[in-house]
Amino acid sequence: MISMPIGDAELGLEPQSAASATQARVRGAASGSVRSMLGRLADFLLPPVCISCRTRIGSHGLLCGACFARIDFIAPPLCIRLGVPLPFEAGEPLLSAAAIALPPVYDRARAAARYSDTMRELIQSFKYRDRHEGLPLFARWLKNAGAELLADADLILPVPLYPSRLWWRRFNQSAMLAVAVGRLCGVPVDCFVLKRVRRTASQVGLTADQRRRNVAGAFKVDHARAVRVKGKKLVVVDDVITTGATAEACARVLKRSGAARVDILALARAVEPAAFVL
Ligand SMILES: [Zn+2]
Repeated sequence: MISMPIGDAELGLEPQSAASATQARVRGAASGSVRSMLGRLADFLLPPVCISCRTRIGSHGLLCGACFARIDFIAPPLCIRLGVPLPFEAGEPLLSAAAIALPPVYDRARAAARYSDTMRELIQSFKYRDRHEGLPLFARWLKNAGAELLADADLILPVPLYPSRLWWRRFNQSAMLAVAVGRLCGVPVDCFVLKRVRRTASQVGLTADQRRRNVAGAFKVDHARAVRVKGKKLVVVDDVITTGATAEACARVLKRSGAARVDILALARAVEPAAFVL
């Protein structure tokens, strides 16, 4: 079982599974509340299902116990730069070997979970199959994982898509995540500060080096909005951090435009094997 500072229901486990897993916990309002007639009617017409496997559950927008158990949430201790999990707590901020060997351009990265199992399925459905019912839950995951970064952030920016890709996909999943977490945390969001000025090949299947070259020079800070960047603490939101090449490319142009701090916040992260402590 994971240990996080917030409740299972807040993390997305449907209350029935959470209650059976932790019977001793008092769930107050959630278990005792009387749902309105309209709510009951809506549930009758559109019964709540797990956002991953579509099994019937007790509440909308959550996960069944089996799918929840297959999410590998990233919990402390973490590398303070890359946000990758570390094997032990040392009572002081730690850096992973990867962060020491190749310090990132961005200041800190955090992700809610590893990019595997349920999390990979959820993100792929969100991106490619228009399944957006998980968005409120994703925003809570981002808020939780990015608490440190968001606490004093001035502005949230999504990783932009190239216009033609945006046209095909019809929405930018990173922008949806950025707006949702910004609303939840009360941090302003600007989806037009970062621009993708070069169409890049899909990063899927590329090596780390190929990814780096693929996104080099792909981003630009919008000239008219550069004032929103200079001297500011920024959080760039993306769906997945894989090698970090996109995050690096975004951070580079934002720092060149005078950003005081650039942090990266994602739903999931592919965890590098070289995450051991030095
Ligand atoms: Zn499920």
